[in-house]
Amino acid sequence: MTADTRPARTASPSGSAAPATALVLGGGALGVSIATHLARSGAKVTLATSGDLCDGASGRSLSWLNSAGDRTPAYHALRVLGVDRYRTLFAADPSRDWLRFTGGLWWDAEEATHARHAGEVARGYDSQLLTREDVAHTFPGLAPEAAAEESIHNPGEGWVSLPHLIEHLAAELRERGGVIETKLGACSLLVKNGRAVGIRDASGAEHRADAVVVACGAGTSAVMGEAGVDIPDGSPLAMLVTTEPAAVEAPVLNTPRAAVRPNPGGTFCVDHDWYVDQIVEHEDGRCTIDESVVTELLAEASHLLSGDTTLTAAHWACGRKPIPADGEPVLGTVGQLPGCYVAFTHSGATLALVAGELITHEVMTGIRHPLLEAFSPDRFGG
Ligand SMILES: Cc1cc2nc3c(=O)[nH]c(=O)nc-3n(C[C@H](O)[C@H](O)[C@H](O)COP(=O)(O)OP(=O)(O)OC[C@H]3O[C@@H](n4cnc5c(N)ncnc54)[C@H](O)[C@@H]3O)c2cc1C
Repeated sequence: MTADTRPARTASPSGSAAPATALVLGGGALGVSIATHLARSGAKVTLATSGDLCDGASGRSLSWLNSAGDRTPAYHALRVLGVDRYRTLFAADPSRDWLRFTGGLWWDAEEATHARHAGEVARGYDSQLLTREDVAHTFPGLAPEAAAEESIHNPGEGWVSLPHLIEHLAAELRERGGVIETKLGACSLLVKNGRAVGIRDASGAEHRADAVVVACGAGTSAVMGEAGVDIPDGSPLAMLVTTEPAAVEAPVLNTPRAAVRPNPGGTFCVDHDWYVDQIVEHEDGRCTIDESVVTELLAEASHLLSGDTTLTAAHWACGRKPIPADGEPVLGTVGQLPGCYVAFTHSGATLALVAGELITHEVMTGIRHPLLEAFSPDRFGG
């Protein structure tokens, strides 16, 4: 972005103008994080969203904080920094029950486990192979017979409850003078003379700002497409089940039939992908699934836990899991639409804090952040 693409306000390190006002569209973890980071940087921020805060994927996320598995080097680096920013938040108040570093345990068929472990070790990711006996010793809350002969233990991983994180950041945003506008209906970008100058809400009302950040999760592609910017969408359907409290402790578990993470109040969140084709998306956008699938998923999850633990569902929710079509994050300045920035990514729980920080850097300085170069929205062309 160059100086002539933004209105002159205050000086920035690039010598260009920093926007005085910023509007962030989308009330999920990314939108709220970006808005809060912008407010910390001195911008006058409005967060605008169609319904309530946290009504999208962030309200139904496993939110395992990790950079496990096979990634491009740039994506791996960003995710490691994502976990790092949560460590900073954790250190500020280790008593928070919604952000914990319990470590993660992963297993699959032997060959897949060994290949994944080797890749993680090669990248310097903390990855240890545990035998079934090691698992029994380290994690008494798990049923040792359910574990594979060998598992990968990633002791540096953790989890966050995004509804709690969003509440926490939204409180800071308000304290810093930010405004949160909810229930605006589906909004679109307001473009004047080839520049993003704000949004138009569902009632037709215009909300103007010097900089606009689109963080609409699985709705991002549609919002940007309407403004003539192609950001292909690959968001699949997904479901998250939240359980009633259970008297057992566990790390984050990723296993062939169930992924499980602890949640505040002694409850658990459970998901997987084997049932995705059984989720029905209705014309009005609502998604449903047969209750028998929920029961089956919780039986798989219960099987992983020690004693006679039987997990029961408190509630479950289905919807789109935001993923750009090429699988890589889309973060930062939109070259073809001055004044506009995008945040659309898989692993948005892990990336929420660091993405908020780096996008704020781009908005406030006018300089593309080197760590976001690989994730530029401009990579899709026109
Ligand atoms: C089942 C599941 C498991 C997951 N597991 C993990 C994990 O283990 N680790 C990890 O890091 N990530 C995980 N994720 C991904 C992560 O949760 C998401 O990437 C993240 O929550 C996305 O946040 P967001 O703010 O981009 O989108 P969302 O939370 O979807 O928020 C988008 C917001 O934009 C609003 N909006 C949409 N369109 C418009 C419009 N036109 N006008 C106004 N407002 C609009 C929506 O109402 C919503 O408030 C998982 C996701 C799911 C669903």
